[in-house]
Amino acid sequence: MRSPEIHDLDLLVIGAGIAGLAILDRATRTGLSVLAVESAESGRGQSISAQGIIHGGLKYTLKERDLEAADSIRAMPEAWRRFVESPAKMDLDLRDATILSPCTWVWRTDSLASRIGMLGAKTMLRTRTDTVAPEDRPTLLQSMTGKVLRVEEPVFDTKSVLATLSRQHEDRLVSVDHAEGLELRSKAGRIETVVLRDRAGASFEVRPRQVVCAAGVGNEAILSRLGLETNVAQRRPLHMTLLRGRGLPELYGHCVDGNKTRVTITSNRDPEGRTVWQLGGDLSERGNARDEDEQIRVAAKELAAVLPRLDLDAHEEVAWSSYRVDRAERKTSSGWRPDDAEVFEAAPGLLVAWPTKWALAPRLAAAVVDLVAAPSTRSAVFTAPADFARPRVASFPWEDRTWTDHRDVRSAAPA
Ligand SMILES: Cc1cc2nc3c(=O)[nH]c(=O)nc-3n(C[C@H](O)[C@H](O)[C@H](O)COP(=O)(O)OP(=O)(O)OC[C@H]3O[C@@H](n4cnc5c(N)ncnc54)[C@H](O)[C@@H]3O)c2cc1C
Repeated sequence: MRSPEIHDLDLLVIGAGIAGLAILDRATRTGLSVLAVESAESGRGQSISAQGIIHGGLKYTLKERDLEAADSIRAMPEAWRRFVESPAKMDLDLRDATILSPCTWVWRTDSLASRIGMLGAKTMLRTRTDTVAPEDRPTLLQSMTGKVLRVEEPVFDTKSVLATLSRQHEDRLVSVDHAEGLELRSKAGRIETVVLRDRAGASFEVRPRQVVCAAGVGNEAILSRLGLETNVAQRRPLHMTLLRGRGLPELYGHCVDGNKTRVTITSNRDPEGRTVWQLGGDLSERGNARDEDEQIRVAAKELAAVLPRLDLDAHEEVAWSSYRVDRAERKTSSGWRPDDAEVFEAAPGLLVAWPTKWALAPRLAAAVVDLVAAPSTRSAVFTAPADFARPRVASFPWEDRTWTDHRDVRSAAPA
């Protein structure tokens, strides 16, 4: 049954990945009456898959053209640490979230490109890096020739961040019945009212002063439904590889190669307590052209090259998997990643937002809330109907996969 009442809002946020949740949080702290709506599970797509590294500029400074980007991102590691240790009034409060590692490690192989990459990282990186003595490095990096750097870029458990923010805002975060559960009613190009329907058939209606689309790859579909230009977004496809094994050590960091991160490794646990490595970096960008078997074979070879000390036979239940995911960003003329978080007004009262990186979501939220401006005088904290559905947080990519035993990968590898 639809309530006849139409609720006035300062801001409706579409999408509850890290961007939508950070905007919801910032708007609430500013005193705006705000509601966020999710059509699947919070963070499904990019945010739950993110490697959770709060970059302070490493990946950016490897490429000279990215120096400008490094300025916007440099403050992020310290800000995110503060969110966990002692959040200020307008900060995300992540005291209940999990930091998986306080730092990342950077190492190189013996190739010339990798040596040059390490030199570039050392000279251009303005976040604090320490060259670390072998005995103070993770075991797998102790025998690496060449310097190993410790970079003060924390790594977050993405699910714990999404769950913490969702819990804090459960009164104003709802789940609709797929994208169709959100009916945007516009007049003369402006969204006037929005009807929300959940999977059980409950519904209510809001009249938002502003709407912000923070729906990742979903932004294009929303613009299309409203008859607006969709050629404002770009996708960068990734083919991520997963490696799991009992007793596999945790590792967080990048092997550099020229101006790229050849492989970026982050670690987590599966529900059975096995360690899971996510392998990203150049391996995942180039992997887009490969099918799953080939990607896994290449990943196994790459791992042997960048971590010669790793002995997968020493661990039990070692298996591989891979999955594809698109990065969604505001379109750039070069097709490269934008330098910063991006927000623009697609129509009167309608903003479209992309954080570009997980780490930049708080910057995006501040920019969006600045654009929405002061709370209307009638606003009060908005509370969604208690019997309306709430979204679950998405599952990690490794929680619902099929896996290939490492012995089969090894036997399939070309000599
Ligand atoms: C594999 C991978 C690794 C990454 N690693 C890092 C990293 O280590 N550090 C870093 O800083 N960045 C990283 N990133 C980038 C980062 O993940 C993204 O920039 C960020 O998560 C984007 O967040 P988002 O909220 O905009 O989008 P998403 O996380 O995609 O969230 C969009 C949400 O909107 C919902 N939605 C879609 N359509 C609708 C609709 N019509 N109505 C309602 N809801 C809708 C979706 O279900 C989803 O919950 C990584 C990205 C990927 C893919």
